[in-house]
Amino acid sequence: MNEQKTPKKPLIFYVVLCFLALMIFNALFVPMMQNMRIKEVSYNTFVQMLNDGEISQVEYEDSQIVFAPSDKEDPYIYMTVTMPDIDITNRLIDAGVDFGRVQEKSNPLLSFLLTWILPVILMSLVGFWMMRMLQKRMGGGPNAMTFGKANAKVYVEAQTGKTFADVAGEDEAKEALKEIVDFLHNPKKYESIGATMPKGALLVGPPGTGKTLLAKAVAGEARVPFFSISGSEFVEMFVGMGAAKVRDLFKQAQEKAPCIVFIDEIDTIGKKRDAGIMGGNDEREQTLNQLLTEMDGFDGRKGVVILAATNRPDSLDPALLRPGRFDRRIPVELPDLAGREAILKVHAKQVKLEDNIDFNTVARATAGASGAELANIVNEAALRAVRCGRSAVSQEDLEESVEVVIAGYQRKSAVIPQKEREIVAYHEVGHALVAARQSNSAPVHKITIVPRTSGALGYTLQVSEDEQVLMSKEEILSKIATFTGGRAAEELIFKTCTSGASNDIEQATKLTRSMVTQLGMTDDFDMTALVTVSNQYLGGDTSMACSEQTAAKIDEKVISIIRDAHKKALKILSDNEPLLHQLAKFLLEKETITGEQFMSILEEYDRQANS
Ligand code: ADP
Ligand code: MG
Ligand code: ZN
Repeated sequence: MNEQKTPKKPLIFYVVLCFLALMIFNALFVPMMQNMRIKEVSYNTFVQMLNDGEISQVEYEDSQIVFAPSDKEDPYIYMTVTMPDIDITNRLIDAGVDFGRVQEKSNPLLSFLLTWILPVILMSLVGFWMMRMLQKRMGGGPNAMTFGKANAKVYVEAQTGKTFADVAGEDEAKEALKEIVDFLHNPKKYESIGATMPKGALLVGPPGTGKTLLAKAVAGEARVPFFSISGSEFVEMFVGMGAAKVRDLFKQAQEKAPCIVFIDEIDTIGKKRDAGIMGGNDEREQTLNQLLTEMDGFDGRKGVVILAATNRPDSLDPALLRPGRFDRRIPVELPDLAGREAILKVHAKQVKLEDNIDFNTVARATAGASGAELANIVNEAALRAVRCGRSAVSQEDLEESVEVVIAGYQRKSAVIPQKEREIVAYHEVGHALVAARQSNSAPVHKITIVPRTSGALGYTLQVSEDEQVLMSKEEILSKIATFTGGRAAEELIFKTCTSGASNDIEQATKLTRSMVTQLGMTDDFDMTALVTVSNQYLGGDTSMACSEQTAAKIDEKVISIIRDAHKKALKILSDNEPLLHQLAKFLLEKETITGEQFMSILEEYDRQANS
């Protein structure tokens, strides 16, 4: 909102400018207009004209004589200086000249306009203009004197242009929203049985999962007016504006019913009250109170449905969530395998594709990606195709762009010393081998030692065959061992360790910690939750919920689990040392090993070992 450019110069600048303009006008223009009608002549001319009887009226002053010609066509009034001319008065009388004030031949109407009306008009224009500017700054609409009118944009079907067909996956969310659309189309059906629609529905889920998109799709499907406003727009500079905006928004909505009101990022106003230090934010609380009041105040049967979206539902005020307000909560979760494939297909419709693209492979490689990230992957693939001078997107483009999104672009120009390349190769093969030699880990999909812009010098991609919802303790333990496999290989071959394992260490520790403190997978602590999780959808920050003694024990436990995993990885690698050398050599040569190549080398080795 408020995209109009606010002038960069201060208001006073314009006021001064206006006064200057007025002064210049007065100083130059007005005398000029008058001068046009007054003509200065010599005394001789005056006497001459008097003798010729061409003067009709005269005004005799101390230092000047102003006189009017008898010729009615003459547009001028004349002026001359006084002279010690003794009998001039008599001569003037003789000539029958009229004494008195010489009327300027000005248009009385014009001079009235100039002296009275014009300044008034100018001043009121300036005033009006200043008013408008002030209003723009306060976020009011273009209408004069309507401070605090909500700038709720009215979306209609044609404007959002989205329908449920644009939203892939998220079937449960769509199901719930379809009911609302149906109600808006056909309220009688619900009334006849006595059912009332929920007044509000709250879309919750991690960022980029399509909450905003879903709300737009609802508007597109329902073909009713769609008021959309973002939570942050309520909370503005001037105190009281937020509440006024809420009031206004609901007034507008009730006039337009049936309609949908969509409040995006509602957590900006809906945060728990009293949550803040120093008594909280007054403005926000007023806005929230107004919202609560308005939601109680209107009749749900009229057909105003309120949708809101947030990725921090746990921070919302409980009053907002009680039945009768946002009583329906629609989770919009990260897509599963089928969902990812569907989202990829929806976005792939917008780009030219080669035949036989296997979206399933791409979907499997992107576990945990949101809809927004998948849309980004398709676009990256299209950009890559253009860069390579091709006219359609290939499978390779898609798979490469998955890696771009995970690890950044390839740094082709990076020069890595041979010794370091070797270390990286052994490190990555170490991960892959430890993974492959444990029964509970996902198959290796790709190993590469091409450096990436994210700083990764190489990585191992594991892709599981099908989507997993649950993870067993054994799987988690083998995952931790796989994380330690890189460092283990360095230690085994080079008898040293490098900084390249920092990310592995971080991830292994995080996983182990959650195993101990959240998942209850150790005997020592049994099924006790030792941390509290907040912001579940935004990374899930944890804070300790246990005594210091317990915290110390947790640390010990975490360390011992990781140590065991590390030992296990070292054992696996030293048992397979010839294989480790063979794979690392291959990787150094080719830079990349595919899953199939990796498996065939592994199988070949096993066959020889067994015979
Ligand atoms: P949110 O509001 O949940 O943070 P958005 O609705 O703004 O996410 O989604 C961002 C973009 O991601 C959308 O414009 C769309 O291109 C893509 N996207 C997300 N989820 C989906 C989905 N389920 N189907 C298709 N596209 C999606
Ligand atoms: Mg959004
Ligand atoms: Zn590593």
